[in-house]
Amino acid sequence: MSARRFMINSRTVRDGYASFDGDIYNHMVRVLRLGTGDAVQLADEKGMVYYGTINQVAKEWVAVKITSSVLASESDSNAPHITICQALPKGDKIDLILQKGTELGAHDFWLFGGRRSVAKIRDDQQVGKLERWNRITAEAARQCGRPDIPEVTWLPSAVEAASDTGHELRLILWEGEKDHSLKDSLSVGGKPSSVIVAIGPEGGFDPLEVRHFSQHGFQPVSLGTRILRTETASIAILAILQYTWGEM
Ligand code: SAM
Repeated sequence: MSARRFMINSRTVRDGYASFDGDIYNHMVRVLRLGTGDAVQLADEKGMVYYGTINQVAKEWVAVKITSSVLASESDSNAPHITICQALPKGDKIDLILQKGTELGAHDFWLFGGRRSVAKIRDDQQVGKLERWNRITAEAARQCGRPDIPEVTWLPSAVEAASDTGHELRLILWEGEKDHSLKDSLSVGGKPSSVIVAIGPEGGFDPLEVRHFSQHGFQPVSLGTRILRTETASIAILAILQYTWGEM
């Protein structure tokens, strides 16, 4: 069985060793019963993967001796960097979008308050929400064996989401688009280095938002005549982009 992979913070690696207490200690030693000499992989938030063996197990901490390391972030794959620019949906749908988007290779997530987003994030909730959302992507990355962890960012509205971007290909999924299909957008200009896809909340995009995104180079595209749930649209577009330009 290949060595088990643990998501770590890059700060824990120092001078060829890494030591852990708390959750990682419990998982390694108590749950998986790993011991001295067992091989492990340590993946940090910067896309580095460290290969090593456990060289000390104490009562409440464990030390790993690192033998090699590689920068194996998603950017090693031939897929473009894909940013999901998601208007905040209701309830815990965002958990599904972050989890499935991580499995499907999204490079990062920009969440924003859509004009029709029912859920709202108060200023004093932002830090806690971001910690929780980034935990979801970290856990999903660990589960699917990704070397890097997609970062989740919060933006107040579509205005910031549309104007902050430098992505080469910019798409806004809009069911009102009748002329331009996704296939049209993906068949011109070859493989982009980066793609950003804006997706509306349950209530869809406000026409003002569609216009704002369009003014910032986002091409409205349709995913066909059926109205998809916001979480379905997010999963579908990632699978299509990975199939077209990625490693699927
Ligand atoms: N306005 C929709 C309605 O009339 O029910 C609701 C929005 S839909 C539930 C949520 C989001 O998914 C939309 O804002 C859009 O970004 C995306 N979406 C859903 N179906 C789509 C389609 N057929 N074409 C393009 N985007 C779609």
